[in-house]
Amino acid sequence: MRKIYKLTDEGLVRMREIASRPVMFLPGGRPMFNPQQEANDFWKDLGKKGGFEWDTVGPAAGKGHEYFEAEESPAAAGRAGQEDKTSKCWMTEKCSRPADTRLCAPNGRIIGPYCREHAEAAVVEYRKKLGEIWSIEKAEIR
Ligand SMILES: [Zn+2]
Repeated sequence: MRKIYKLTDEGLVRMREIASRPVMFLPGGRPMFNPQQEANDFWKDLGKKGGFEWDTVGPAAGKGHEYFEAEESPAAAGRAGQEDKTSKCWMTEKCSRPADTRLCAPNGRIIGPYCREHAEAAVVEYRKKLGEIWSIEKAEIR
């Protein structure tokens, strides 16, 4: 399913950096770096974090330039589906605390549910590993 995503400020800055770098050619006509390759790597990385297929990215019509459209990755779609079937904490099957919390990504994607403790642990982990600030919101217990 195609969905609309939003680039983070960090992502926008990175994209501008890639776009504005002049291509220098080495003797023999070899480019010193490959902007297309860098752009692909950028989107691959973003797709992995945001849960979409990086090579399906296209412009989102009628939206600001920080928005784009992409196919949700099967893994992300599967997890989203799973969310409706269970109200157990995502961190581990064994967690028996009430899963009354969800996590909201910088791009607006919501995952979960988690128990409060595991949600807080995940926020710390994402900040450390991805440099992203995720927020915690209350989920209804079904
Ligand atoms: Zn838990």
